[in-house]
Amino acid sequence: MDCIFCKIIRGEIPCAKIFEDENTLAFLSIGPISKGHTLVIPKKHAEVYMDLDDESINDLATTLKKVATMVKKGTGADGLNLGLNVHEAAGQVVPHVHFHVIPRINGDGLSTWPGGTYEDGEIEEWTKKIKGALE
Ligand code: AMP
Ligand code: ZN
Repeated sequence: MDCIFCKIIRGEIPCAKIFEDENTLAFLSIGPISKGHTLVIPKKHAEVYMDLDDESINDLATTLKKVATMVKKGTGADGLNLGLNVHEAAGQVVPHVHFHVIPRINGDGLSTWPGGTYEDGEIEEWTKKIKGALE
């Protein structure tokens, strides 16, 4: 398969490995937002998070916790951003599920997302739309 992260999993492309177990892998991003920026991936290929079966999600969550703890301790960061981009519209470039673990230092100046507002009645509308999508 022509997926760059699957190639890393198969050892066809090198990576700076942080952690590996039977079903998951963590390695440093080659384009770090901050030093120590780590990616956590399932070994089973899936394009986006919602495509994963529940067992893979559990495995990924367990590794994410472990790796987040390692990254915070190992880098001495004050905090972390744990991020997941879903589809191109949200900034996903590599079509293989990956959590970002990004070390943050107090006052590091990295921008965070803007906070918006809801007009009167809008919050109820959006709640209804999203709750109505429960399958
Ligand atoms: P995203 O924009 O959420 O798809 O993030 C893709 C991430 O993968 C970025 O952090 C890239 O720097 C990283 N990346 C892409 N190719 C590689 C690679 N060969 N080894 C390590 N990280 C990679
Ligand atoms: Zn893949």
